[in-house]
Amino acid sequence: MKTEANILHSCEWEPALVSALQRGHLPEEVSRHVASCPACTDTAIVWGYLHDVEQDAADADQLPAPGLIWWRAQLAERRKLASRSVASIQIVQNAAIALAAILAVTLLALYAQTFTQIPALLLEGIAACFLFSLPVAGLLYFWARSER
Ligand SMILES: [Zn+2]
Repeated sequence: MKTEANILHSCEWEPALVSALQRGHLPEEVSRHVASCPACTDTAIVWGYLHDVEQDAADADQLPAPGLIWWRAQLAERRKLASRSVASIQIVQNAAIALAAILAVTLLALYAQTFTQIPALLLEGIAACFLFSLPVAGLLYFWARSER
């Protein structure tokens, strides 16, 4: 790095340049000088940076009240926790349904031979009961889910 870069130069045009920048309009002769003078170029860059910082600070003043931001963050956190707890309930519910289905299939497989000895009419009755209870169970399941 050059040592020259750390040396602060000053220029007799600087006050005119700063006041022109504050007015927001650079006269032709000032802008021609800035293009040829490193010190005034630096001054213009620094002034632009400070102006941006000032603008950002002014924009920050237009944020909502801190209390409102805090309240919204709390609400978002609570909603996140609520959805997480509902998700765990649904996982348990689905696991219970899957377990019941597995149990039913296992029992059916284990007692399949016994079923052949049961009179056909009784088997048909059991099948009919099962078939009619399925849509009802499905309806109850979806009704319970839609409550949330
Ligand atoms: Zn200059």
